Amino acid sequence: LFTNEEHKIIIVGLDNAGKTTILYQFLMNEVVHTSPTIGSNVEEVVWKNIHFLMWDIGGQESLRASWNTYYTNSEFVIMVIDSTDRERLSITKEELYKMLAHEDLRKAAVLIYANKQDIKGCLSPAEISQQLNLTAVKDHVWHIQACCGLTGEG
Ligand code: GDP
Repeated sequence: LFTNEEHKIIIVGLDNAGKTTILYQFLMNEVVHTSPTIGSNVEEVVWKNIHFLMWDIGGQESLRASWNTYYTNSEFVIMVIDSTDRERLSITKEELYKMLAHEDLRKAAVLIYANKQDIKGCLSPAEISQQLNLTAVKDHVWHIQACCGLTGEG
């Protein structure tokens, strides 16, 4: 990633999943350039030559069609999941498979953060993996990682 080429990473997840918290953990102590105006619900952060495009999935069906324009040339997708949000895991699953099926993301590697592991009673990465049926994903490189956005652990 540390060449002169530009790279694009998209970060998605439901509202309150911890996307902003995790993004700023990556970028801690670094100067970043943010431009929250590229779309009504898409935030762009530029760090070195990496463009992070971040948005909430779910609940905003009408805006979703335009997200495809941001998929182009994305090499990585980071999906952040609130591991305590059992009720909405099915929405996340639906959106995950929709993204994976998208032509522009066919080569993208997917990192899934099982966030908020510090909260008692949360789902483990294994449980999330099972509920999302990740072993069925054969056409993308993927990894699920337990983490805590607040501390940066994981
Ligand atoms: P976004 O809507 O996905 O960008 O979510 P935010 O980054 O704004 O986080 C939503 C809320 O969850 C905030 O109150 C965060 O402080 C909190 N949060 C994020 N990550 C963690 C975590 O790992 N553990 C706990 N306990 N809270 C977290």
